[in-house]
Amino acid sequence: MSERRGGGNPKTGFDESWYYDTAHGGHDYPALDGSTDADVCVVGGGYTGLSAAIELARKGYSVVLLEGYKIGSGASGRNGGVFGTGQRKDQDELESWLGMDDARKMWQIACDANQLVRDRVAEFNIDCDLKDGELTLAHRERHEGPLWDYAEHLEKNYGYTAKRIVSRDEAAEMLGVETLYGGYLDTCAGHIHPLNLTLGLARAASELGVKIFEETLAGGIQKRNDGVTVKTATGNVQAKYLVIACNGYLNGFHKTPDNYQMPINNFILATEPLGEERGRQINRDDVSVVDTRFVVNFFHNTPDHRLIFGGGENYSSNFPRDIKQFVRKNMLKIYPNLADVKIDYGWGGTLAITMRRMPHFGRDGNHIYWAQGYSGHGIAMANMGGKMVADAIMGQDERFDLFANLTHFPFPGGRLLRWPALVAGMMYYSMLDRF
Ligand SMILES: Cc1cc2nc3c(=O)[nH]c(=O)nc-3n(C[C@H](O)[C@H](O)[C@H](O)COP(=O)(O)OP(=O)(O)OC[C@H]3O[C@@H](n4cnc5c(N)ncnc54)[C@H](O)[C@@H]3O)c2cc1C
Repeated sequence: MSERRGGGNPKTGFDESWYYDTAHGGHDYPALDGSTDADVCVVGGGYTGLSAAIELARKGYSVVLLEGYKIGSGASGRNGGVFGTGQRKDQDELESWLGMDDARKMWQIACDANQLVRDRVAEFNIDCDLKDGELTLAHRERHEGPLWDYAEHLEKNYGYTAKRIVSRDEAAEMLGVETLYGGYLDTCAGHIHPLNLTLGLARAASELGVKIFEETLAGGIQKRNDGVTVKTATGNVQAKYLVIACNGYLNGFHKTPDNYQMPINNFILATEPLGEERGRQINRDDVSVVDTRFVVNFFHNTPDHRLIFGGGENYSSNFPRDIKQFVRKNMLKIYPNLADVKIDYGWGGTLAITMRRMPHFGRDGNHIYWAQGYSGHGIAMANMGGKMVADAIMGQDERFDLFANLTHFPFPGGRLLRWPALVAGMMYYSMLDRF
């Protein structure tokens, strides 16, 4: 019988990525054994949890962070590394949904999120291959005009000049293939080694006094009048506040956030090293690239001249058995000239999407907070999500509430029944990618 490789399990595939093999000497943190207390208990050792922990510790709060497996073993340590700008939804859509004022606030939060990551990388001296430049290209000719219009819209309405229009000829020169059309280049966005960013944040948190426990799954929450008790297999944490930062790995830990997110799996490969010259031929300026497909392709080169290519997702609870093949066929649609190249790595991870593709923030009473559902756009926004939760705990909740007040829709039918409806919907849209 084939091995079951469940999505939503941080042990599945964490050690299969190129990032894992190139991580900077991970620090091992102990497991929690016994009882402890803190002002804040954070559950989840990805960007959201670590970012909240850093902000709180800096302001003098005592913080205990529980990670069920290893720091970065969730999406934060294995994602595509595309460090984007803006929110997951484009500004014109946010303007229609929320009005211009709130759309502007959302834009500013996204700009601050991008800056937050840059500031932390600089402040904590995190070596994570941060590179500038993200190219967004149309996969159909008819999508080219709207991309150009959007770049203009941002310049006109938000004074954003970092996105410049790229013609299809220039795109072909930059990538050495003619499989995509024109679009825009955003010089504030770029790419990053996501696991080294996460490990660097954990080191910073630890140095600020956060007590990090790995291999410590939080199993239950008991509410008290003055806080919460978080139970683990061999101990518990008593805290005034609980931050739930579990995203696609939440697995029902708290019912309300669970109802508003859907875990889906996304897959990535890394080729063998291509050499400097061939690396430059397929990506002249070493930028990250995304296309306009509903199941988006995203790719960039590594410092050792491999291509990292993300393309393909599934909505089942299991990973495909041969991830390399699963993603390679999408890679060849963009780079048919890489048919001879060996694929060294293939891995997957689980992320949480929301019905409206904007993050879902919330509270349960006065002591429990969460931030989740970045819908595939989380490197900057999950870092910001953690900061916004921390700010809310410290009494500055204007930005948190902007998100918490978004109208989100729960996935119908609870955990089991949401699958068939979601799968049908996602399959429908991914089919449209072909036309
Ligand atoms: C394959 C893939 C590609 C992606 N590509 C990109 C990209 O290119 N650009 C981009 O911006 N975003 C991307 N994303 C999304 C981005 O990675 C996420 O939005 C972001 O990492 C979420 O961070 P987080 O801290 O909220 O969650 P995670 O990083 O998933 O961390 C959650 C953590 O909580 C832990 N946990 C869960 N339950 C418990 C419990 N009960 N007790 C203790 N610990 C628990 C888990 O073990 C996990 O480590 C991608 C995601 C995936 C999976």
